[in-house]
Amino acid sequence: MASFPGSVRVLIRGVADAVFPPACFGCRAAILGAAQHWCDACLQMWLAATGRAYCPTCGRGVGPYEVIDRRCGRCSGERFAHDGLVRVAGYEPFVRSLVRQYKFAGQQRLDRPLGECIAAAIESAPWRGAIEALVPVPSHWTVRWQRGFFSTGALTAQAARVLGLESLPLLVRPKRGRSQIGLPQTERCKNVRGNFHLARGANVEGRTLCVIDDVMVTGATLNENVRVLKQAGAKAVHVAIIAKVDSTATDV
Ligand SMILES: [Zn+2]
Ligand SMILES: [Zn+2]
Repeated sequence: MASFPGSVRVLIRGVADAVFPPACFGCRAAILGAAQHWCDACLQMWLAATGRAYCPTCGRGVGPYEVIDRRCGRCSGERFAHDGLVRVAGYEPFVRSLVRQYKFAGQQRLDRPLGECIAAAIESAPWRGAIEALVPVPSHWTVRWQRGFFSTGALTAQAARVLGLESLPLLVRPKRGRSQIGLPQTERCKNVRGNFHLARGANVEGRTLCVIDDVMVTGATLNENVRVLKQAGAKAVHVAIIAKVDSTATDV
């Protein structure tokens, strides 16, 4: 509509909204005459899910004074390859439903609000200024084919647009590997070893990057992605996710 003058654009928008009223991103209810993404009820749930404090290393929800030296009590003994993490929300039923709608139920338009939220989370991080590019966690081609799109890539592109950075496919997943669902932490780490490689011709030497994923369960997949980038010479690698699952028993 870029070639129409403003008043005509408003008129066309009004007609379009009357025929196809904008729908809430959460429950798909029509939002009449509103320039927002959510109905009031979903907005409240979204704000509640995104407003909680979390550990900047493992992403678990935390209470007040629970984080010491960027670690919470539950991750103080764990090892992470990344240099810092941000998340958008906890994996509450409302967030879980949004992510599943996005990945599996044809709601690809959720890439914009979810990607914008990832951008906002990165914007709040102390390491934001050092990031040179965003890197999506790659999925195997069979997964992309089944879903009909590359969900993490679309999220990363939206976040990169907001941040004024590039989204670079520096990693590939030549091996699909076994599903991680139901596997304990040690098995998950072994299961993802070798599934991810540096993309042909990619040079990450001395670069500071941020890897993007949707949902983190134990962190084994993200850890492997970060490990590959660091082994290839990346200076620092941070991670940004939509949500962190507190219990490893959850299927994602
Ligand atoms: Zn709603
Ligand atoms: Zn922690």
